[in-house]
Amino acid sequence: MNVASSPRVVTTAQRGEHAVIVGAGPAGLTAAYALAQRGVRVTVLEGDAVVGGISRTVVDEEGYRFDIGGHRFFTKLPAIQALWDEWLGDEFIDVPRLSRIHYRGRYFDYPLKAWNALSGLGPVEAARIVASYVAARKVWGIPCTEIRAEWAAQRIQGLSLFRAILSATPLTRRDAGIRTLIHTFRYPRLGPGQMWEACRARLEALGGTVCLEHRVRAIEVVDGRARAVVASTAAGERRIEADHVISTMSLRALVDACGESAPTGAAEAARRLAYRDFLVVALVLEGRAHFPDNWIYVHTPGVQVGRVQNFTNWSAAMVPHAGRSCLGLEYFCFEGDALWSRPDAELVALATAELAQLDLAPGARVLRGQVVRMPKAYPVYDAAYRTHLAAVRGFIDPIPNLHTIGRNGMHKYNNQDHSMLTALLTVENMHGARHDVWAVNTDFEYHEEQRRPATEPAVPAAAPLGSGAARVAAA
Ligand SMILES: Cc1cc2nc3c(=O)[nH]c(=O)nc-3n(C[C@H](O)[C@H](O)[C@H](O)COP(=O)(O)OP(=O)(O)OC[C@H]3O[C@@H](n4cnc5c(N)ncnc54)[C@H](O)[C@@H]3O)c2cc1C
Repeated sequence: MNVASSPRVVTTAQRGEHAVIVGAGPAGLTAAYALAQRGVRVTVLEGDAVVGGISRTVVDEEGYRFDIGGHRFFTKLPAIQALWDEWLGDEFIDVPRLSRIHYRGRYFDYPLKAWNALSGLGPVEAARIVASYVAARKVWGIPCTEIRAEWAAQRIQGLSLFRAILSATPLTRRDAGIRTLIHTFRYPRLGPGQMWEACRARLEALGGTVCLEHRVRAIEVVDGRARAVVASTAAGERRIEADHVISTMSLRALVDACGESAPTGAAEAARRLAYRDFLVVALVLEGRAHFPDNWIYVHTPGVQVGRVQNFTNWSAAMVPHAGRSCLGLEYFCFEGDALWSRPDAELVALATAELAQLDLAPGARVLRGQVVRMPKAYPVYDAAYRTHLAAVRGFIDPIPNLHTIGRNGMHKYNNQDHSMLTALLTVENMHGARHDVWAVNTDFEYHEEQRRPATEPAVPAAAPLGSGAARVAAA
């Protein structure tokens, strides 16, 4: 990956100028913090009532905590690790990683290991599963054949069936370039939201402002520059002038907010970018769910749940009462579809029934449940997304003081560290650097994979932000 030079023209930020940042998720807060450190006046406008975006922690009325999907803090980027350490210090805990696949009452390693799968399933069942894979739609809602290779490379370890079978043979297992997944990960004691609350406090200590429940609905672009942002608040509309605008909202929403200054082609392309949405039903149980995994992928037919998190196994502090559990049953859906639109009480009943059907917490009693819907959890890499993205960038890139960063802000399957890196590189660009921010997270390496010779310990490369090594590792 090369992030050293970019054709994009960017307006330099001066001390005392005002930057408005849309979204208080990891990317927006990181950008705001880095700008505030350089003396730029920052205002963060967040539509929701909490910070953290998808990486928030939800806290219920009795203090039970859960994530929108469990969030591991893993990075190959020393600059990001340094920020996490600075913000959270010894509130970080090390968590052993265990995640398996539940299939018809049996458990299989995740990612799949060929021998484990074949011995557990038997050859006939294994062949049947391979045959059904092409038509599978559970997670993405589209056939697997329509998902671009970039996603698979980032998410499922570039694992082909052929490679999986080869890896099961003693001969190839001695390969020098062994790939391993991390066995422990770091996690804030009180969940990922603790990180983003800590970042917000640091930002405010530097003089930055975070305005919650400010949903940006318009960005005024006049004579080729972003001039002001308009947000809806409980007290009515608020117009805020800006020298620079950094957006982390979805590209679809960003282009829409720019209104008539966006050409029809870009507006149409932005509307065609696709997303997969997500809802979690958090169940508080009297009694313990005894499975040792942090999370379990559910491939068992006959249920709709896609994954089950056991938050006690992430951090004991997520569950305030001994002898109880907090599970997150995760459902992949489209905003507005039948599942998304079901009343909360029905979703809690569905999750309760499916938990019993899967027999994951025998003897435990469900005390209550809470539903959180997260629109646009996943940007979809379908067959047309690159074309649509190019059309959107054709409109946004020439505006020198408007920057779009993060996950949905770049329609990219970015984890927290990638999202933060796009923020840091953008701030450097605003101070004269020429990074190609779009090159972050573009290589075909699985996010959590470490490649190393069989005899060497797994130590991630250390290099400062902006050096060649950091850029390569960032990809
Ligand atoms: C199920 C799931 C599991 C994940 N697990 C991990 C993991 O284990 N480790 C990891 O590192 N990453 C993980 N991620 C990715 C991580 O959540 C994202 O990388 C990160 O949250 C992206 O940060 P962001 O700031 O770009 O966007 P977001 O987190 O989406 O934040 C954007 C913010 O902008 C706000 N916003 C949007 N529109 C407007 C508007 N019009 N006006 C005002 N505010 C607005 C939103 O409310 C939100 O707060 C996971 C993601 C998902 C979906």
